[in-house]
Amino acid sequence: MNNILKSIKSLVFNSNFFIFLVSFTAVATIALWYSTQQTQLSSTAENLGTEKKPNTSNSQNDNMNQISPESMKEEKVDHQESSHQETIENSENYSAIIQNSPQNQKDVNSLLLKNTRYGHFQFAEVPRERLMNMGKYYHRTEYLDKEAGIAFQRMKHDAQSQGVKLVLISGFRSIASQRELFTKQIQRRGSERAAAKLSAPPGHSEHHTGYAIDIGDGTKPQFDLKYDFEYTQAYQWLNAKAGNYGFELSFPRNNPQGVSFEPWHWRYIGSERASGIFAQTRSLQ
Ligand SMILES: [Zn+2]
Repeated sequence: MNNILKSIKSLVFNSNFFIFLVSFTAVATIALWYSTQQTQLSSTAENLGTEKKPNTSNSQNDNMNQISPESMKEEKVDHQESSHQETIENSENYSAIIQNSPQNQKDVNSLLLKNTRYGHFQFAEVPRERLMNMGKYYHRTEYLDKEAGIAFQRMKHDAQSQGVKLVLISGFRSIASQRELFTKQIQRRGSERAAAKLSAPPGHSEHHTGYAIDIGDGTKPQFDLKYDFEYTQAYQWLNAKAGNYGFELSFPRNNPQGVSFEPWHWRYIGSERASGIFAQTRSLQ
């Protein structure tokens, strides 16, 4: 027994063993810390990639009293867009995704949504020479890509002849002005993720393309950009007829992107160029 104690003592006090013990403990602690960090990072990435659908009825009620996203005041803040380049590259692989990988629609959805920011795809700004002046909404002059603009004028004319007054509230929007809207939305909603339910992050709005359009009912301006627009004559008419003019609702209820229902927001898909731009988001079902 004494011998055993002696040998333990000599081991502990032997300086080489002591140094070994200290180094081993330090290395083990660092390794443990590192693996914890990795786990946290990967679970965050997963959460970002698999945005859950919102509870539509709750989020609608919640939003009834909110100031509409598009009528907010301007505010400047630096916005992080670190994932942009990566997203562009991923977007270009879209056809490869569609052709090669998917076993089913669910796989397509999750692959496509991986390239989004909180469910919003990336869109480039339309070249300015494609824009046409669509007149004013209050003090603001609105523009659309000429393809969408001509189609909207025709649709508006036909609606008018059937007693329905369509109003163009908002058309083309630059990335800079979307940044201001989105920043304000983050301040209202508390986080980027919550803001993205109601508004697209800069660089990710369909309005950048010149093909997206927010439509109001001229007889019910109080419902402009409000959920109650759903109950206007204009919405009912659009729901039945907009498809004939190349327009479709971008964010219907329970859309796979997880964006709140926006009865006022329509996109033009009536040309090859337009449908190409929206191909990814339209592949979601
Ligand atoms: Zn819109």
